[in-house]
Amino acid sequence: MPQIMIDDMEVSATEGMTILEAAKQVGIWIPTLCYHPKISPSDSCRMCVVEVEGVTRPVTSCNTIAAEGMRVNTDTPRLRSIREEVMRLVLMDHPLECPICPAAGECEIQNLTYRLNIYGSEYPVQKRDLPAVRDWPLIEYNPNLCITCLRCVKVCHEVIGATALALKEVGYSARIDTVDGGILNCDFCGECVEACPSGAMSTKVSKRWARSWELRKTPTICPLCSAGCRLEMNVKDNRIFRVTSDIDSHNRGSLCVGGRFAYDLVEHQDRLLTPLLRDGNELKPATWEEAIGFAAAGLKKIISESGPESVAGLASPRLTNEDCYAFQKFFRTVIGTNNVDSEARFSFLRVQRAFELTCGVKAATGTLEELLDSSALFVIGVDPLEETPALAWKVKAAARRYDSNVIVANSRSTSLDRFARVRLPIRPYAESDLVLGMMKIILDLDLWDRKFVRDQSANFLPLKKLLDKISLAGILKRTGITGEALEEAARIFAEAPEASIIFGGDVILQEDGLQCVMNLVNLALLTGNLGRPKAGIYPIFEKGNIVGLCDMGVMPEYLPGYQDAARVRDLFHRTWNTDPPYTKGKTVTEMARGLETGEVKAAYIAGADPLTDYPHSGRYASAFEKAELLIVQDIFLSPTARMAHCVFPAASFAEKEGTMTNIEHRVQKLNQVIQPLGQSRPDWSIFEETAKALGHSMGYFTVADVFKDIAATIPFYKGLRLPDLPPDGRIVRPFAAETGTGRSDKPYSFAPVRTWEGPEPPEAAEYPFEMLAGRSMYHFGSVTTSSKNLLDLCPGGYVEISRQDAEQLRLADGDHLEVHSPNASFTAPVRLSDKISPGMVFVPSNFPDMAVYRLFEENTTVCRVKLTRSPRSKA
Ligand code: SF4
Repeated sequence: MPQIMIDDMEVSATEGMTILEAAKQVGIWIPTLCYHPKISPSDSCRMCVVEVEGVTRPVTSCNTIAAEGMRVNTDTPRLRSIREEVMRLVLMDHPLECPICPAAGECEIQNLTYRLNIYGSEYPVQKRDLPAVRDWPLIEYNPNLCITCLRCVKVCHEVIGATALALKEVGYSARIDTVDGGILNCDFCGECVEACPSGAMSTKVSKRWARSWELRKTPTICPLCSAGCRLEMNVKDNRIFRVTSDIDSHNRGSLCVGGRFAYDLVEHQDRLLTPLLRDGNELKPATWEEAIGFAAAGLKKIISESGPESVAGLASPRLTNEDCYAFQKFFRTVIGTNNVDSEARFSFLRVQRAFELTCGVKAATGTLEELLDSSALFVIGVDPLEETPALAWKVKAAARRYDSNVIVANSRSTSLDRFARVRLPIRPYAESDLVLGMMKIILDLDLWDRKFVRDQSANFLPLKKLLDKISLAGILKRTGITGEALEEAARIFAEAPEASIIFGGDVILQEDGLQCVMNLVNLALLTGNLGRPKAGIYPIFEKGNIVGLCDMGVMPEYLPGYQDAARVRDLFHRTWNTDPPYTKGKTVTEMARGLETGEVKAAYIAGADPLTDYPHSGRYASAFEKAELLIVQDIFLSPTARMAHCVFPAASFAEKEGTMTNIEHRVQKLNQVIQPLGQSRPDWSIFEETAKALGHSMGYFTVADVFKDIAATIPFYKGLRLPDLPPDGRIVRPFAAETGTGRSDKPYSFAPVRTWEGPEPPEAAEYPFEMLAGRSMYHFGSVTTSSKNLLDLCPGGYVEISRQDAEQLRLADGDHLEVHSPNASFTAPVRLSDKISPGMVFVPSNFPDMAVYRLFEENTTVCRVKLTRSPRSKA
């Protein structure tokens, strides 16, 4: 650790630390302009110069590494004069129009001018009069305010990996532009705006003229995806004006388009602001008293006539931990049934089942930060930029800054392809076979980790026997991958000192999803990549609190904390003052069947929209039609809510408190930013009010009461207290004290494997295209289709089709296409795409009016379809 002197203060620097960083850590201020802590030093403005004894000329502190024995002076007459000169040159052509500048009050030029005691430039003012760029979506650029420090260009390249911006021209004409000179078409993360010191880059959407000093910043977390980024809502007069993020957060102040711009959905004109009750074909406004009275009377009647098993509940991964906990407790202690479930049944619970059988963990095995240090990253069946953008940035940074080898396996092109060392363009459904092929090659080439397998894992031999038997030629045929590419991927993964696997929807949601996840864990075990830092396995999900929802016990088979009622009945009896039910509850598909047969008569849906979000969603529409009582609680009148007999308006994430648990199992605090709009209320309090109306209060007066129950009953949340949660939350590791599966004396166990040789669906000839559903890059579930800001980027659904297929079908961009499966059909505009292979189409699942999941079977997000030109198309 180099010891240096800065302004007569002894400073211990760490290896590779710059003088600027060393000074900063002991509170010595060195002025900067082009420097930004998230990017590599530019060394262009010379504002940060310091004197190093023994060196004749001042050096820039942002890129001079602190060396043992260095003596540094940061504030001398010579340095002051250099800095003043830099500022005078900047001010020569920088408009002094602070009152109308978007950065007023937080402009670094303004602040430095003031702090350096500069009263103007002696040089003749050379006013630039370049046209501002106002035709980009969401962001605008005023070159006259730009000091060409390149911070925006560098965050775009180095932090986000988007490479959208570039410096054009030199001298007085120098300006920032898009790389190709066209309209900005990027991730729209807003990092360029956040990094700009002068207001040259600004967002169009926060120009409701709240000045920076009028805004109150409330820290909270983004609920839109499972990364759970920390952010700050900037509020004035109970309205959100913009979203920023703190550089000290676990996401280092970076946000994606959702976190930065989707806040406007909170104030959308269609927000549910009052309870609604059905009157014939209409839903009419009601008071809370009337609505809760109606719901309670209906539930009471159904329970007394048909028993508690005739009531079922579905919750959403958008709810907080407290909402989810109160929801399942309401069902278990007030209604008296284990009939609670969610859409995690189709995704996260499959992953958990596979993990339970193999490695005993419940979610990702490491932190997002650790991905930066993995020397190989295998990304399969997901474009992380579409599901969990914060994770995608880590993969890109690992590839670019730390030379990690990225392997991408996907049936579509992804945003990570240009960072990949190996790209494996597999056929849909072939992920499981691909992984088997990699394992076979690793065994054949003797690249497996014998020591790890021998000492730490069980059940290796059955896997080996199967791999010895399978034919690599068959695997290559089924996956469509060349032997060379597969071998290269296998070698890279097996030979990496630490390797991690990232997988998502295309793996989890396919019919053979459980087997595919188990094969991925087998691959990690075979190469010794579990149970140590920088190596691990990361399932990723689109919805924000899917991990917390499952931790809280929103599933029929387990009580909160994945606990078996038979083992922990006493604990819950003590905490809840009543016994959890003894009956076996129903899963979501069993609930649908129950509604169809009349066994289930009432459904209570909290925050979920099965008609838009669940595979084979048409089934839920007909099932709900049969319900005697359908209660829906949401922030918008979703397609499911439109079918309800009673609708409760819920508070949005910005209007309530609670916690959420992200993909790393990081429990973080959601803070209330504004007062609930209209008559909306936090979800947990609606469950409590309904419980009271049924004569069984759960004893919840505040959100802290619910959290106390969580900490008292879930072993891995034990010891957490809501007021004490640190800003970055606390990572809890379920079952950390246990050694994995508990089925042997080894911590890990290989899972049984089989090859998937599913027959081609018989209707293949009639339905010749494979349709994949996923997320649009600019939307998160269906909720952000109420964000005007995000609709500016992606206003509606579409069908992505290859140019080759479009030519055959005589389709041009924007023409309309009818898409039919045996289950249903929809019409949408065509988007020609180079991301998709001939024979395939991709559709975003975000748009309720397309309801694409009606076309799918229950267990998959891939289905066969036929396409016909819609009469709405141009000739
Ligand atoms: Fe972060 Fe995900 Fe929110 Fe984007 S959507 S800001 S990546 S939590």
